[in-house]
Amino acid sequence: GKTGIANPARWPAFAAPKLADAATEDRITVLLSRMSVEQKVGQMIQADLPSIKPSDLREYPLGSVLAGGDSAPFGAPDRSAVGPWVETARALRAVALEQRPGHEPIPLIFGIDAVHGNSNVVGATLFPHNIGLGAANDPDLIRRIGAATAVETAAAGMDWAFAPTLAVPRDDRWGRTYEGYSEDPDLVRRYAGAMVEGLQGVYSLGNNDSAVQKGRVAASAKHFLGDGGTTGGIDQGDTVVSEDELVRIHAAGYPPAIQAGAMTVMVSFSSWQGVKMHGNGTLLQGVLKDRWGFDGFVISDWNGHAQVPGCKEDDCVAAVLAGIDMLMTPYDWKALFKTMVAQVKAGTIPTARLDDAVRRILRVKFRLGLFEAARPLEGRAELLGNADHRALAREAAAKSLVLLKNQGNVLPLKGNARVMVAGSGADDIGRQSGGWSLSWQGTGNKNSDFPNGQSIFAGVQETLAAQGGAAVLSVDGSAQDKVDAAIVVFGETPYAEGQGDIPTLEYQPGDKSDLALLKKLRARGIPVVAVFLSGRPLWVNPEINASDAFVAAWLPGSEGGAVADVLIGDKDGKPRRDFQGRLSFSWPNNAAQAVLNKDQPGYAPLFPLGYGLDYAGTSKPVAALARPLSEQSGVSPAAANTDTWFVRGRNPAPWTFALRHGAVQVPVGNDGSIVTAGEALSLRPVDAGGLQGAGRALSWTGKGDAALIVTGGPALNLDRLSLGNALLIDYRVDQAPAGIVRVAIGQG
Ligand code: BGC
Repeated sequence: GKTGIANPARWPAFAAPKLADAATEDRITVLLSRMSVEQKVGQMIQADLPSIKPSDLREYPLGSVLAGGDSAPFGAPDRSAVGPWVETARALRAVALEQRPGHEPIPLIFGIDAVHGNSNVVGATLFPHNIGLGAANDPDLIRRIGAATAVETAAAGMDWAFAPTLAVPRDDRWGRTYEGYSEDPDLVRRYAGAMVEGLQGVYSLGNNDSAVQKGRVAASAKHFLGDGGTTGGIDQGDTVVSEDELVRIHAAGYPPAIQAGAMTVMVSFSSWQGVKMHGNGTLLQGVLKDRWGFDGFVISDWNGHAQVPGCKEDDCVAAVLAGIDMLMTPYDWKALFKTMVAQVKAGTIPTARLDDAVRRILRVKFRLGLFEAARPLEGRAELLGNADHRALAREAAAKSLVLLKNQGNVLPLKGNARVMVAGSGADDIGRQSGGWSLSWQGTGNKNSDFPNGQSIFAGVQETLAAQGGAAVLSVDGSAQDKVDAAIVVFGETPYAEGQGDIPTLEYQPGDKSDLALLKKLRARGIPVVAVFLSGRPLWVNPEINASDAFVAAWLPGSEGGAVADVLIGDKDGKPRRDFQGRLSFSWPNNAAQAVLNKDQPGYAPLFPLGYGLDYAGTSKPVAALARPLSEQSGVSPAAANTDTWFVRGRNPAPWTFALRHGAVQVPVGNDGSIVTAGEALSLRPVDAGGLQGAGRALSWTGKGDAALIVTGGPALNLDRLSLGNALLIDYRVDQAPAGIVRVAIGQG
């Protein structure tokens, strides 16, 4: 049945920071007293850029303009550079600020989908999509990316980024999985405030750094709420979870984003328990505004209000009463304006609700400094794609790469090697950038559209040339030059939103040729390094097994040189930069594992959350991601090993050593050796932190998972262990097949 009714008392309580001081609230009161109903209603409406002309604003005094995924400035359908955006914004803004009788000059607020850099504008720096940033596990990096994005957004005359996405995607078939940082709410929680601070500046009521004059823009925490939890991973679908799960998982990012001063929140297209979020008053008004005290404004998604039962694009009192302050109404805004003016006059929309909505919008406009004329960054084209921002994007992309396999230590490649760069993604900045890049659905194979970018091939070529090596581009791998190795770049082609929903996680290359290419090169004796571009983990066991090294590169953005920074070492083959990325999404071991996360009973991924190898061989999962299972790679057979495991749960008894494997051959360990089903392997504790003798040795046949249970012992009271305690365990792996196995410890 449909419930969707929240009990706000169950939600964590906190006091949202105030976005305006008393003097500003007084100014707003004065403004409200002078504004006509028409002007107030107008503030609540956002029109899409292509649908509005400056002169329209005299009859329809709207408050906001959308530069969304496919919007383009007037007369510049190719979106070339900053100029047309700025001219368009200025022309519209001038009319909104005209002095004329019966009209208060109120600045427009321009919102844009700057979701990985100011990604709509030619020349902008394109940062990795959020899934890659999640793998980098670096909140300070996120803050710096937010600040750079804000500068490039303000330079284009825009005031407001529709970011960050705080979805916690739980079904990777969802076409927006890559817009989420992680399946782990803890990581989303740690990133949310950092991105808001980067975009808006660090919150302080008295000293306002959150102004476009200072190169900042407003953030929009989205999509409230439960966008990542829909059944089947269906975009705009129904999130059928308990209220407790909604709070713990899907809402995790909102309190920190709001505490960091997020000025706006965008509503989700999805439903919770069958009720469209755009009509959910207990969550929008009851939780977000009343319980948390959020005093910025709430914007609908693109015509999202029209999906509320009984509503249309040009008529939706229910959304306004549920707590939506601004309606993103791309085309039918004239009709909506007329309907709403009539509804206010008839009392269907109460004046108090109207004034509350407009007060919130004006509060944000004051906070952003939009009433001040100065916009020092606007029009400064040289800020887009500038060297500092590109270096930052390159750092971010390098940190986002996750090494899943490195058989025979084929990586790093030597700096003076001859390397073939092959695969359909080898020389294609559009592919690297994914959806929301110059157009809603992204674009492909037009490097000239990214004048400040670099393809992966170009980055490899530059890096090798600098050290006496060389790169050969051969997309289909047919070049017969003698090479030391091949880097094969392939993966998903760009998509956005529901267009990216898929039925299973099986990787489906358009032309089915990627696997054949990997095999063909390997058959020629060429060591093969796969660089996989994707917006989510996919089932690629055949491709992994056909590669010597396998790198999950996500959607790295405009700086393809980042791949070379990590994959290519110096002339002696010493790494110049190590892998730092760790999976922020679990990697499936079969195509049906679309819902795969550490909270599940029987969690059995191919690579767990937090997994990632590195050259130093010290790869452990990022501690904060490793709950409840932490994992160690690189355990040598027949050698004594000592590991320190950090306790991540309470009363963790019994502890389990688990050898995690699926039934199929999978590559494991730093040297990529494969433990094959049927081979014997045993593990015994030497001294389990005082638990010697308490466990029993295990024989494992290689079929499925097996565990060695250590149940507790006299010297160590497991009940006393608490979060963060270290537990030293010595153990030994004998009778293992040659190579290396993975050993994991977790709660049984
Ligand atoms: C998306 C939002 C986006 C908006 C404006 C919608 O379709 O769901 O994330 O901000 O369009 O382009």
